Amino acid sequence: RAKARMRGSVSVYEPEMDRQIRDRRVLHQDLSKAVKNGEISLFYQPQARGSGPNGNNEVVGFEALARWRHPTRGYVPPSDFIPLAEESGLIVELGEWILREACRQAASWANPLQVAVNLSPAQFLNSDLVSVVHTILLETGLNPRRLELEVTEGVLIEDFDRGLSLLRRLTALGVRISMDDFGSGYSSLTYLQAFPFDKIKIDRAFVMNLGHNPQSAAIVRAVIGLGHGLGVSIVAEGVETQQQLHFLVQEGCDAVQGYYIGKPHPIEHYAELVGLPEIVQSPPLADERIAE
Ligand code: C2E
Ligand code: MG
Ligand code: MG
Ligand code: MG
Repeated sequence: RAKARMRGSVSVYEPEMDRQIRDRRVLHQDLSKAVKNGEISLFYQPQARGSGPNGNNEVVGFEALARWRHPTRGYVPPSDFIPLAEESGLIVELGEWILREACRQAASWANPLQVAVNLSPAQFLNSDLVSVVHTILLETGLNPRRLELEVTEGVLIEDFDRGLSLLRRLTALGVRISMDDFGSGYSSLTYLQAFPFDKIKIDRAFVMNLGHNPQSAAIVRAVIGLGHGLGVSIVAEGVETQQQLHFLVQEGCDAVQGYYIGKPHPIEHYAELVGLPEIVQSPPLADERIAE
C-alpha cells in the first residue's frame, strides 16, 4: 500500500506542484487587486480587563484582524494571504491600508477605546514605517495613545539595532507596542528587557492547555509575574472557557481576549460598545444638486 501511494505520488507530484504554483500566481494577482476592489475588510475582536468582583468583563479595546472575501474562492484566511502578501512585497501597501482603515474607524467611535493592529515583519523591514504611522495618525486624527501595534519576535530577530530604533521612534509618537504570540517563537528575555513593550500577549497555545497541562499553568503564571516585574501589562489570547478566564484573573492577568469574551466580527456587531455613529442617509447629494 505504501508502495502504491509512493508510485501515485511520484506521478502526481509535478503537476500538483505546477498547479500550486499557478494557483499562487493567480491568487497573488487577485490579491494585488483586492484592496482596490474592496474585498479586504477588518474584523474586530474585543479585549477585556480581567473581571472584577462583580464579574464584569469591561471591554477596553479591540484587535483589528484582516479578512479577504475572494469573489470566487470565498473567504481566504489571513494565515494564507498575509504570508503571500509578505513574499510578494504587497504587504507594504496592504499593511498601510489596514493601518489607515483601523485608525480611521477607531477615530469615528464615540468611546475612545484602544485599537490594536498587527504589523508583519516585511512592513517592519521594508517601509518607512515610522513616517507612515505618523502620517496616518495625522490624517485620521486618532489619538496616538489609542493605537497599539502588535509585533512578533520574528520581526526583531532580523535586525536587533534596527528593531530597537524603530520601536523607540514609534513609542516616541505616543503609540503602544505589544509583543504578540509570546512564547510561540524564540521569546528571548533579552528582547523583553531591551525593547520598549507596553504589553505582552501570551500565546493561545499556553491558554489552550490550561487545565490539561500543569506546565502551561506554570508558564502562564511565570509570564504574568515576569511582565509585572518589568512594568508591562499582560494579555492572554485565545480564552475560550470560563475556567481559563478564572485562572487568568486569579493570577492577575491584566486583560483577556478570546472567543469566550467575543469573536472577531465586523465592527457593526460591536456598535454599542464602541459607540458607532448613526448611519445617516445622504442628503448632501440633493443639496449639491440644488446648489448646481
Ligand atoms: P494573531 O494576531 O495572534 O490574532 C489572533 C488570532 O487568533 C485571530 O485569528 C483570532 O481570530 C484567533 N482567535 C482569537 N481568539 C480565539 C479563541 O478563543 N480561540 C481560537 N481558536 N482562536 C482565537 P485570525 O484572525 O485568523 O488571524 C490569524 C493571524 O493572522 C493573526 O494572529 C495575525 O498574526 C495575522 N493577521 C491577521 N490580521 C492581520 C493584519 O491585518 N496584518 C498582519 N500583518 N497580520 C494579520
Ligand atoms: Mg495579533
Ligand atoms: Mg496573537
Ligand atoms: Mg496568536
